[in-house]
Parts: sequence; structure tokens; C-alpha cells
Amino acid sequence: MKNLLDYTQEEMKEFISPAFRTKQIFDWIYKKNISSIIEMKNLPTSLREELSKQFYIKPFKILKEEKSRDGSIKYLFELRDKNKIESVLIPMKEEIKENDKIIRHQRFTICVSSQVGCKMGCSFCMTAKSGFIRDLSAGEIVEQVRFIKEINKIPYERRVNIVYMGMGEPLNNLENVSKAVKILSDNDGLGIATKRQTISTSGLSNQIKKLGELNLGVLLAISLHATSDELRQELMPINKAYNIKSIIDAIKEFPIDQRKRVMFEYLVLKDVNDSLEDAKRLVKLLNGIKAKVNLILFNPHPGSIYKRPNDEDVIKFQDYLSEKGITCTIRKSKGLDISAACGQLKHKYS
Ligand code: SAH
Ligand code: SF4
Repeated sequence: MKNLLDYTQEEMKEFISPAFRTKQIFDWIYKKNISSIIEMKNLPTSLREELSKQFYIKPFKILKEEKSRDGSIKYLFELRDKNKIESVLIPMKEEIKENDKIIRHQRFTICVSSQVGCKMGCSFCMTAKSGFIRDLSAGEIVEQVRFIKEINKIPYERRVNIVYMGMGEPLNNLENVSKAVKILSDNDGLGIATKRQTISTSGLSNQIKKLGELNLGVLLAISLHATSDELRQELMPINKAYNIKSIIDAIKEFPIDQRKRVMFEYLVLKDVNDSLEDAKRLVKLLNGIKAKVNLILFNPHPGSIYKRPNDEDVIKFQDYLSEKGITCTIRKSKGLDISAACGQLKHKYS
């Protein structure tokens, strides 16, 4: 049996005819949220029966849900082969001033996994601990979004952002991730514009180049975390293959909307990379790039050798960047009380 969610409409047309049927199928799966192919009522019975013999549309089941006090919800899913993955729903209130009136919007960000485990072995990351098991298929990525929207009754029209920041290295599974981007953005389905999808990478320069060549219109986030190759390769072994310069060079070539920026994630680790010297080197590195920086406070997990930084040091770091004209936000690891850093929920239940 195969997963029907693994296919773009274009691919479906190769085995489903007439061509307009694929639009109906997308409508049933992604807009009407049906749970079996038999429910696709405007398809001929013979086609429904034929498809049901070959395809399923439920690639996983929910095992666990953890709500945090700040409103984010973390999900643990069990795939058909019993492997487990995590996804997080992060609600955000956005205030927009319009004609002196403040309008509050509820926005949602869904953080999805791209692999079971990860090959990159970063020293601070929980996902790295369990090694790499396998890539997720496009449909397994897409279903995380469909499922979370459905279970939370998030209306179809409500704007949703996707971040590929769960378990795994998305650019190490570029084929399936890029297909998931296309399926998620299809207006006959979930219709989540590619400019609202952010791919986060540990910095695989050659893959950043390939992603750029695909011209999907997605946003890019780089997990930088260090300003010297020496420290970076201690934290992230992948830096031995792709050093900081190669990443910066790849970013300079990356096609990005004029109004958008590349996001640099910087995980702040106490006494490791939290000094003013680090901030100074970071500003130098970002010279000439339309960048914004997101400081992530390290989320400690059992057995980790790193510590959460002091608030004052983080604020000094942020102030320095702001003084130099770089937009810099601080992410306080939403939902510290729900084992928020990637891989931590899975670890608790495996
Ligand atoms: N593999 C990709 C995307 C998944 S990790 C990447 O590395 O970018 C998503 C983010 O979570 C990365 O920036 C990663 O560095 C960060 N992260 C990993 N472990 C963490 C922890 N214990 N506390 C806070 N952030 C963590
Ligand atoms: Fe993989 Fe990202 Fe974790 Fe590094 S931080 S081990 S790249 S998931």
C-alpha cells in the first residue's frame, strides 16, 4: 500500500484520469478532511474502490499531546512502521495597527519534522542522540500539517506558517521536503504559500544551492550558533564538510523575495558563545547579507553538558546587534514546560 498524500497533483495525473479528478481528490483530503478514500463521493465507485486497494490516506496515528502554559501544543505521532516523530503547533497573537485601531490576529505556526532522527550529530541536540533512522516521505510531512489543522479546528482560511524545524535536517531529505512544499502550497489543497514556509538547515551549503535552484519561493533559516569554524565544528560536526564561509557564499546566491530576509538562528549557550566578542564577530559575518537574527535560549535536557545563558548576557548580545542595525529577536524556547526542544518528547516516550 502507498500513501496518497505523497503525490503532487501533477504526479497523480500520471495514474488518475481524467485529469480533473485530482482536484477533487485534493479537495476531499485537504479541505474536507475525510478519513478514507471511499468517502470521496463525487468520484465513481469503481475509481474509489481501485484507489482504496492501492492507497491509504492516514500515514500515522497520534500517541501523545502535550499542552504548554504558553499555548503551544506538542504532538507525538506513530508512523505505520512504528517510528515516532514530533510536531508542534505554536499559536501567536499578532497586533496590527490600522487607522489608529489595534487589530489582533491569531496566527499559527506549525513546526514539522522532516526525518526520523538526524545524521548531523549536533552536540546540543536531543534528536541527534538517537541517530538517523529514515527520511520522512512528502506525505508524512504534509500530514503533520493537515492533522494539526484538523484536530485544532483551525479554519481553512486562517493563515498558517510552516517551519521545517522539528526533527531532522530538511536539506538532507531535499527531494521529499521540496515535494511537501509544493503539495502544501497547492491552492486546491491546503494553499499555504511557499513564502510562508521556512526551511531551517544546519548549513549544508551544496544543498542550499540546490534548494535555491529549485526556486520554490521558500524562506531560509540557517542554524549558525557559532562565529568561528573552530567552535562551530565542535557544536556541529557538519561544519567540517561545510564551513562558515561556504554557507555565507551559498546564502549570497540564494533567491529571496526583496522584502524578505534570511533568518540566522543562534543558539545561545552559557559561557560558550554568549560574549560580546561573539556578537561582534556575528555582525562582521553578516555584513552584506539581508539578515535577521533569532537568538534561541538553550533548552536544557537530561544529560546535556550545556547551560541556559543569563538573561542579561542575552540582552547585551541583542542590544549590540540592534545598535549595528540588525533585527534581532529572542526566542525563549516556547513551552519549556513541555519538553520543547526538538526530539525531547519522543525521547520521553521511547
Ligand atoms: N536540522 C535543522 C532543523 C531542525 S532543528 C537545523 O538544525 O536547523 C531546529 C532548531 O532547533 C535548530 O536551530 C536547532 O539548533 C535548535 N535546537 C536543537 N536543540 C536545541 C535545544 N536543546 N534547545 C534549543 N534549541 C535547540
Ligand atoms: Fe539535526 Fe538540526 Fe538536531 Fe543538528 S540541530 S542534530 S541538524 S535536527
